[in-house]
Amino acid sequence: MITSKTLKLSLKSLKDFAKKRLPDEVLRDLDDKDECPLEIVRHMCSPDKLGIQLLFIPEEFGGMGGGTFDVYCVCEEMARIDLGVATAVLATFLGSDPITVGATPEQKKLWLTRIAEEGILFAYGATEPEAGSDLGALRTTADRVMENGQVVGYKISGNKQWISNGGIADAYTVLANTPSGPSWFVVEKGAKGFTHDEPEDKHGIRLSNTAALAFDNVYVGADRLLGGVEGQGLNQAQAVFGYTRLMVAAFGLGAGWAALDRAIPYSTKRIQAGAPLSEKQGYTHKLIVPHVARLEAARSYIEETAERIDAGVEGSLNTEGAIAKYMATEAGNAAAEASIQALGGYGYTHEYMVEKISRDVRITTIYEGTSEIMEMTISRDRWQSHLKTRGQHYHEQAKKFEDLHARHSNVGADIAALAMHALAEVMERARVARLTRYQHILLRLGELIAYAECAGSLSRRAALMAENKVNEKANRRFDATGLAALSRVFAREAAFKVGEEGMRWVIGAGGVGDAEIAGFETSLGLPAIHRAQSGLISDMDYIADVLYGRAAKRLEVAA
Ligand SMILES: Cc1cc2nc3c(=O)[nH]c(=O)nc-3n(C[C@H](O)[C@H](O)[C@H](O)COP(=O)(O)OP(=O)(O)OC[C@H]3O[C@@H](n4cnc5c(N)ncnc54)[C@H](O)[C@@H]3O)c2cc1C
Repeated sequence: MITSKTLKLSLKSLKDFAKKRLPDEVLRDLDDKDECPLEIVRHMCSPDKLGIQLLFIPEEFGGMGGGTFDVYCVCEEMARIDLGVATAVLATFLGSDPITVGATPEQKKLWLTRIAEEGILFAYGATEPEAGSDLGALRTTADRVMENGQVVGYKISGNKQWISNGGIADAYTVLANTPSGPSWFVVEKGAKGFTHDEPEDKHGIRLSNTAALAFDNVYVGADRLLGGVEGQGLNQAQAVFGYTRLMVAAFGLGAGWAALDRAIPYSTKRIQAGAPLSEKQGYTHKLIVPHVARLEAARSYIEETAERIDAGVEGSLNTEGAIAKYMATEAGNAAAEASIQALGGYGYTHEYMVEKISRDVRITTIYEGTSEIMEMTISRDRWQSHLKTRGQHYHEQAKKFEDLHARHSNVGADIAALAMHALAEVMERARVARLTRYQHILLRLGELIAYAECAGSLSRRAALMAENKVNEKANRRFDATGLAALSRVFAREAAFKVGEEGMRWVIGAGGVGDAEIAGFETSLGLPAIHRAQSGLISDMDYIADVLYGRAAKRLEVAA
């Protein structure tokens, strides 16, 4: 267990290190040269130096035994520094995941201790040229090597594509097809027949090394089959998705905030039409405030999911990981893109860094499962909940938020409830009219579900903040009043989106005829959703005041 004090200290050393060793000019230079700073990555992973990976390794293997919440905090901080370096450092963590979930006690001891004590770098080799989103299509094979009727080892042959740390890792977890199905193996660098390509020339995260791997009859002993039983690979990969997707969600969050934290101070200095841009509502309410609301809604979902994983909630929380990743990475991309706009021509140049952040954060909607795969994962799972409860799942959720509203009338829980009622109606209509036979409708439902659930999550977090009950490790950039305003802004967006877009897709797919449209609008609660938009601009004004340090002044004036 890591205490909140230790976590704070670790985050501070990380920040101090980055300030010294990775200032903007160094980052820009490495980005220009497309170079992974291997010495810095090794420094970060060395047990006698920064030792970031110690946070993730259980205490019994020489680590600090950090939980999911700690991992989220570190990932966010790493992403604020540089997403390429974050990817390089966290690839070790990802690479060791098949070991953490699936390895035998001896294998765990060997590899996790080596990561903790020697700081070895890992890579995670799942993707192949023909097997990306569909890992089941993998072609890499692991053929048994037999001696006296016993399996003594395997010969691995095939190719892996886009592997982070592919050219620099000391050890690789590799997914390959055994006679009994996909299985994870550990292959060390230098193994005979194992080679990697030159690093890819990428759009972003140019400080990370990404390379293709080739295996030509690479022999590994039977002890390198993780877990010692063939055919467990896809289950093992699935088992950690809740967790690993939270890491990438935190990357989206950190990078999105890193961009906004450049745009916000810039806009206080940049004078146009006689006043700083920060004082122009058309600027702040388009380019800054909505992005803050979306990022904080995603943060709330990440924090809740991390807490549930740490509390040992049953199941892999795969869908929750998918919602967190989807929302945080989409929000991070939108925030970075808006930050370029917020800096105008300067934003478009290398010097001001936001264009680099925007290129870097782009990967987060692609790796560890694309946004479209997230939409599918979310939709399929919640569709089952809808069916099992005979259409009541989101109506029941809505009731919980109505109760929350009765206790905390200002955290937007009533509006989140409107989003959930509307969602239940959209899903029910999709069921009756069999609209999920259209893949596009299924995936759009995934988006609406993610928005509605994040609205609920943020209202819960705002209420907890008001009760002073948030996790002591939680982010406290906003106080209870600020979070409540953010929650109301986001809930309005979510309810509007679910109501209006839900209607659009249902009508677009022929789910309601002309004569039924008015009745369908009423069942979605559209008039209430429209009424709930009242107060939106003044909440956005308040959030802008908080972001620009004007909120206290406003209260003074009011007094
Ligand atoms: C910089 C970088 C680092 C990476 N690091 C690693 C790593 O360390 N280890 C590793 O194993 N992999 C890694 N990857 C691979 C990454 O996880 C895959 O690129 C990703 O899963 C998508 O696979 P793909 O590229 O084959 O795209 P595809 O699966 O071909 O997808 C292409 C597009 O089609 C969409 N699509 C796919 N299937 C469907 C469907 N059924 N229905 C609708 N739309 C669909 C996708 O959403 C996407 O928009 C990395 C990739 C990059 C670029």
